[in-house]
Amino acid sequence: MQKIYRDENADIKYIKDKKILVIGYGSQGRAFALNLRDSAIEVHICLKPESLSANAARAEGLKVISPDNIDDSYDILLFMIPDHIQGDFCDKYVKNNLKENSCLVFAHGYSIHFGLVGPLSRADIILVAPHGPGDDLRENFIRGSGISCYVAAEQDHSGNALNIALALAKAIGSTRIGAFETTFEHETLGDIFGEQALLCGGLAELVTESYETLVKNGIPKENAYIETAHQIDLLASLLKKHGIHGMAERISMTAQYGMLKMQGKIIDPDAEKRLNQLFGKIKSGEFARDWQHEYRIDFRNLKEFKQKLKDHSIEKTAEKIKKIIE
Ligand code: NDP
Ligand code: MG
Repeated sequence: MQKIYRDENADIKYIKDKKILVIGYGSQGRAFALNLRDSAIEVHICLKPESLSANAARAEGLKVISPDNIDDSYDILLFMIPDHIQGDFCDKYVKNNLKENSCLVFAHGYSIHFGLVGPLSRADIILVAPHGPGDDLRENFIRGSGISCYVAAEQDHSGNALNIALALAKAIGSTRIGAFETTFEHETLGDIFGEQALLCGGLAELVTESYETLVKNGIPKENAYIETAHQIDLLASLLKKHGIHGMAERISMTAQYGMLKMQGKIIDPDAEKRLNQLFGKIKSGEFARDWQHEYRIDFRNLKEFKQKLKDHSIEKTAEKIKKIIE
């Protein structure tokens, strides 16, 4: 069982009088910054001078500095910018401005685990990774609740790395629910595999293929859409709330028997092999190398892929249905 920390296991004193810089003011950066501020922790924001988010941060009363103005006065630096640029950013602006016992904080283990950032010998390296988007982190905090998170200490130079992670987790509201202790490796591999195999890659492809199969077999497009993409959230929330068995108990008996009959037909032993291969490519760093290459070629393949998604006929059907049903 993973160790789970709650409010009573975390002490804000480890960050209270520290000079803190939140780099980036997007999904996580904004939520971390505002939740910390509302927990009486002062933070500065770092953004490029031309950043469109700078005014929004200033409107919240936050001091904004540009990357060129990062100096060694900061004790804690939170990397709240996209994973693939964290390495370049660190090399250019952070690496030479770290003092003894500075603490680098990540919301995803990716850039440390795959070696984009580092090595940084004199610093703490910690993870505070909320289990959801920044807007959820902020909204739940305002309501007096929170969302759970992972915490990890990859490098404990000061002797207080985990305490700092827990203090941050408390200040953003996450220990109100629970901070699960993990490692950078487990968080990274789990997150990347989950989003590729199932949550993003696998799900989107299975929805599209199922939709296309129905349409090719003469089922009207609207009908095909309603039976595939449109009901995903209903089943996903049943599954999340009640488990797979609990979901099965709440669908029709015909659907239950259908579940039984399709076992092993789509996810057959070969699919299991491919899932393992996918994990292998993530674990070996092959995926991370490909992704950095894609970044260097200005996201050429990613742009083409997203255009293809946009042009797919399921999008037009989705628009039609959404106008009527939602
Ligand atoms: P966003 O894409 O929302 O953040 C973008 C921010 O980074 C913006 O403020 C942007 O500035 C700034 N930025 C982008 N490029 C640069 C650059 N070259 N130099 C300086 N600033 C830059 O990021 P997320 O919040 O999604 O991700 C941050 C971290 O949180 C990542 O490690 C991610 O994996 C992790 N995470 C994200 C989750 C999510 O749901 N989004 C969930 C859990 C973890 P500008 O205003 O100029 O565009
Ligand atoms: Mg992810």
